[in-house]
Amino acid sequence: MDNYSVYSEFGISKEVYECGIKSLESLKPVFEKIDENAEINQLKVLKAMQDAKVSAGCFESSTGYGYDDEGREKLEAVYSKVFHTEDALVRAQIMCGTHALSLALSSNLRPGDELLSISGKPYDTLEEVIGIRPSKGSLAEYNITYKQVDLKDGLDFDHEAIKNAISDKTKLVAIQRSKGYMTRKTLSVKQIAEAIKTVKSVRKDIIVMVDNCYGEFVETMEPSDFGADMVVGSLIKNPGGGLAPSGGYIAGTKECIENAAYRLSTPGLGKEVGASMGINRSLYQGLFMAPVVTASALKTAIFAAKIYESLGYKCVPCADESRHDIIQAIEFGSEDAVIAFCEGIQSASPVDSYVAPTPWEMPGYDAQVIMAAGAFIQGSSIELSADGPIKPPYAVYFQGGLTFWHGKIGIMKSLQRMVDKKIIKL
Ligand SMILES: *Cc1c(COP(=O)(O)O)cnc(C)c1O
Repeated sequence: MDNYSVYSEFGISKEVYECGIKSLESLKPVFEKIDENAEINQLKVLKAMQDAKVSAGCFESSTGYGYDDEGREKLEAVYSKVFHTEDALVRAQIMCGTHALSLALSSNLRPGDELLSISGKPYDTLEEVIGIRPSKGSLAEYNITYKQVDLKDGLDFDHEAIKNAISDKTKLVAIQRSKGYMTRKTLSVKQIAEAIKTVKSVRKDIIVMVDNCYGEFVETMEPSDFGADMVVGSLIKNPGGGLAPSGGYIAGTKECIENAAYRLSTPGLGKEVGASMGINRSLYQGLFMAPVVTASALKTAIFAAKIYESLGYKCVPCADESRHDIIQAIEFGSEDAVIAFCEGIQSASPVDSYVAPTPWEMPGYDAQVIMAAGAFIQGSSIELSADGPIKPPYAVYFQGGLTFWHGKIGIMKSLQRMVDKKIIKL
């Protein structure tokens, strides 16, 4: 069977196939660089597992209190070695990225303290955690105040403004690495390193927390290599490698992690409790796969940017830009195109490929949203997934791809769908 005949079984036309091949050819050097990073990160994870003496016993399960769960304890040691931190908290009982961030904040701040965000408005779900939008149990209800410094033109930290915004009350500075679903740039680890230096030059004891979601293993260094006191993320994104069924992590200083553990369980019990209920192996194996899975997601994003840019659509970031997270946005300018794109992604999924996604009124959004996901893990966004708010500029945000070959067929199916619906003419 030649290569095209495999694709034709998925309904890919010769024109779409060739468009894909052409885009891919020019990306060879870019992909090589991504593979080089993946190699370094793979060895970093491998070394951490060897140094922590991971053994078959680590995959045993625990129930009840979960005392002396060797697998859970060593996994946390592995995470702290990967991120070069003193300690880590890696738990299924951390339910998602927002929970991990909320935990990191609420456990390290006390009434009267101030939280300062220096990368502008934080991720949507954190607005209620902080109390920017009033909510029960927010930091604001505990008399923790909030200030923010916006990025300069959405591009880089405003170092002068950061220095001026820090006061005696400032206890914790928050940085969000990925742009999430905003229009600003994603921050590079180098930029974050500079910002940490600025904060620490004013006062060394200010805690710097980095929302690391979607950023892990995209570069070879992490913000914790440059003095971040905590890096925080979700296990159904990059570091779970697509295998972690749920969970979140915080890696950081001994003191920050102890605070977080005391808050997650109770004062006194801290890290000593928490049954792993059979997921240890998936968390280890997922972390082991994570560098290569993240590389696949990056390649998928760049491949999509290259194709759609060549067809005249605005891509953020563009195909040639340096990458610091796995999110890709494409502006299609029409509702039909957004829907067709998501239909194409869905139809290429290993799970629920026969289901047609439709726009719906999602809670918390001011417009209808269409989502495409056919994932092994519910809501997993390291697996190929897309969502598009049905409003101008009619952009689609997508991320993930456990293997590049799946990402590639997904993107080609999206294009095929648009060609079939006569939205794009090749
Ligand atoms: C995904 C994400 C979060 C929140 O994670 P959830 O798991 O969806 O709660 C926070 N910040 C950023 C930048 C994210 O990408």
